[in-house]
Amino acid sequence: MNYHGQSTSKIYQELNTSKQGLDSTEAEKRKTQYGPNELVQKKKISIFRLFLHQFKDVMILILLVAAVISFIVGDSKDTIVILIIVFLNAIIGFVQEYRAEKAMEALKKMSSLNATLRRAGTIVQVPATEVVPGDIVIIEAGMLVPADLRLIQTHVLKIEEASLTGESHAVTKSSDKITSENVPLGDRLNMAYKSTTITNGRGEGIVVATGMNTEIGRIAQLLQEDKVKTPLQKRLADFARKLSFAVIGICIALFIAGWLRGEQPIQMLLTAISVAVAAIPEALPAVITIALALGAKRMVRQNALIRKLPAAETLGTVSYICTDKTGTITQNKMTVNDCWVSPEAKAIDDYSPEQLMLLGMELNHDVTTDENNELVGDPTETALVDYTRKNNNYNPQWRTDFKRAYELPFDSDRKRMTTVYPFNGKWLVVTKGAVERLLSICPANKTEVINAKTEQFAQEGKRVLAYAIKEISELPQQITAENFEKGLSFIGLAAMIDPPRAESIQAITDCHAAGITVIMLTGDHPITAKAIATETGILQDATDMVVTGTQLAKFTDQEFQDKLDSIKVFARVSPEQKLNIVKALQNKNHFVAVTGDGVNDAPALKRADIGVAMGITGTDVSKEAADMILLDDNFATIILAVREGRRIFDNIRKFVKYILTGNSGEIWTIFLAPLLGLPIPLIPIQILWVNLISDGLPALAFAAEPAEENILKRPPRKNNESIFAGGIATHILWVGLLMGLVCLGTQAWAIHNENSKWATMVFTVLSLSQMGHALAIRSDIKSLFTMGIFGNKQLIFAVLVTLGLQLAVIYMPFLQSVFRTQNLTLSELALCLGLSSIIFWSVETEKWIKRLKKQSP
Ligand code: ATP
Repeated sequence: MNYHGQSTSKIYQELNTSKQGLDSTEAEKRKTQYGPNELVQKKKISIFRLFLHQFKDVMILILLVAAVISFIVGDSKDTIVILIIVFLNAIIGFVQEYRAEKAMEALKKMSSLNATLRRAGTIVQVPATEVVPGDIVIIEAGMLVPADLRLIQTHVLKIEEASLTGESHAVTKSSDKITSENVPLGDRLNMAYKSTTITNGRGEGIVVATGMNTEIGRIAQLLQEDKVKTPLQKRLADFARKLSFAVIGICIALFIAGWLRGEQPIQMLLTAISVAVAAIPEALPAVITIALALGAKRMVRQNALIRKLPAAETLGTVSYICTDKTGTITQNKMTVNDCWVSPEAKAIDDYSPEQLMLLGMELNHDVTTDENNELVGDPTETALVDYTRKNNNYNPQWRTDFKRAYELPFDSDRKRMTTVYPFNGKWLVVTKGAVERLLSICPANKTEVINAKTEQFAQEGKRVLAYAIKEISELPQQITAENFEKGLSFIGLAAMIDPPRAESIQAITDCHAAGITVIMLTGDHPITAKAIATETGILQDATDMVVTGTQLAKFTDQEFQDKLDSIKVFARVSPEQKLNIVKALQNKNHFVAVTGDGVNDAPALKRADIGVAMGITGTDVSKEAADMILLDDNFATIILAVREGRRIFDNIRKFVKYILTGNSGEIWTIFLAPLLGLPIPLIPIQILWVNLISDGLPALAFAAEPAEENILKRPPRKNNESIFAGGIATHILWVGLLMGLVCLGTQAWAIHNENSKWATMVFTVLSLSQMGHALAIRSDIKSLFTMGIFGNKQLIFAVLVTLGLQLAVIYMPFLQSVFRTQNLTLSELALCLGLSSIIFWSVETEKWIKRLKKQSP
């Protein structure tokens, strides 16, 4: 439909709507008719396909080959058991992936955006998915357009449509009808398209298409996002690949050695295959996704919404946090409590300077009222409007007398906003903004007095806004900021308090203890910023510096590099400078989290290692660019998320340590036996069993391990630090070797004593050793007994279930014939338990030595 070529009245008619918007019953009706306003994602993979997907794993295929070989050599019992094991493996893999997927879906839903609509004459916010054709949408800088719109009103509206047209420059829009034919998408200036970005100004439009009927919907197939692997997953996948080669080498050696010793080749082949399957940690990537997704779910409960999964993993590495001030460090509850009118200010017509100040505060804002007559809008502006409306000299008539003709919306670069009104046959221009940005366009003022007053307010931590006004008889030819924002007369200042959040002070102390430097990047006045930074502890030492954007611009690269470490507050910085600061910190090898809310913050958020957007005050654009959203806009939430990130990483590390040590134990046992002149102690299905029970439940339970006590008292880990750092590689080797030796010791002892059940005993010792190991590595340093045995109930549950399964395999006659096990006497069982606990006690001793070393300087 050619909406751009039609007049707006025709479109109202066509879509059966009006300027006041649809009412809720009609909207509801249309929702059923048109469906949700969303781009349909790639066909969701069905549960059945997800299950089948598990069989694609190379290891599983190898096992299936093993099943076939068993069948050919006539061992159909083994074939069945291998098939059952394959099936169980697939179920475990499936459950793991399914949980991860569900958790991710839930997170995605939460990060969906809202749209501002006019429905039945009232402004309402609804989830963008509920927008229907005929709705009237209000858009402004920072938002993403929620649906395809025919614009009916624009105020310096600029939209960046690169996703549709490839043109990266923002296009200025208007509501005029386009008469020429065959206008390409990029030239339809009176249309706004779903998912494009509003970079400037404001506007209103009628929804003409939603969901897959929008222009972006038509090319939505191109936008399907692929699952991204986290850096750790990539590294581990790479590691697993290298390990596979090593393991396959070992298995070939094992096969040849056994063959030469005269073992049955088929049996040796099956053993070698089982060892390969057991030793390659194929479950690692899936379990990491679960740990991350579950961690991300926990973070949401603490108001940190992870948008990009890798962030959950890398949060623990953050060494620098660049935070903004308003709302994040402070409460964003502004109250104007000082208003100062310059003695130089002059009356215009009948309006005294005092009245002009109040008039300016009434006129120059984007605040609206909701159905309860409450002010809604930017807290700075609502505070100003609230103040003026409560003042005795305020005249309510102004609200209807002055009709806004033009506006030049606020942006963080100009730090000003201007509105224009017809005024007694002339025009009244009102500008408000940062003090120095107003003084520069008010030529005839004594700046010293104004600056002194500003400084006085700022030193009290107040945000100061200045007002200026002028009367002009003719409009400039073009409605641009440059044309209006000059030659104004200064009127006065409004100062407002915005107290720091009580939690910020503690959170900043926590950051310092956790080795994280916090700096403030703000658009506000340096003195205001300094006052708040001092109060919250961001500025601590005498050497800590406050630098303004203007000073920063004058620094040479070298000066900037040298001073960077001591600068704790950057005030009046532009979004571009924000980006440069982030880059400079990254060049110094810092892992940087950056908060932002405005449309201009998007580049810095994208560039940051962790971009953090504000859930309440943040623009859609900043949220889209961010890795994490603070649902409560609160700085303290960042450090909670960092804590959770560190915990997730710790737990992944414990899990890797657990799995690989177990695998190493299995390999040592089987590999060393022939070298020590012993028969290979485990048959293939026993190996597969040990692998299955140890990779399954206990491994998952590590994701539930609570954070270690000192988690926020240690420095952040290095970004590129290996997952095996901190002695994990040695641990895997020595504990695995010990496991192997204990198993082989058991075997040798039993054979020596002519105990025919030696195979069952080795099998039991190997399984139970893994459980003891799981319990012992819950902490890297603390003893299990000080941590509390029941500190991780899931792990206890996993250990008990595994123990139960192992007993079933030993004692149930049917399973005995499958696993070639024999009844152990109680004392034999107790002996196995005792022997397998050697691993537990050895790891406890390792931690004890670590504690001793830590105590002695
Ligand atoms: P903060 O760190 O406090 O959140 P910010 O970086 O978000 O600040 P901006 O919102 O860009 O800063 O504001 C920068 C300055 O612009 C403010 O200090 C104020 O002087 C001025 N300003 C803010 N909002 C408006 C507005 N709506 N109209 C005019 N000027 C404004």
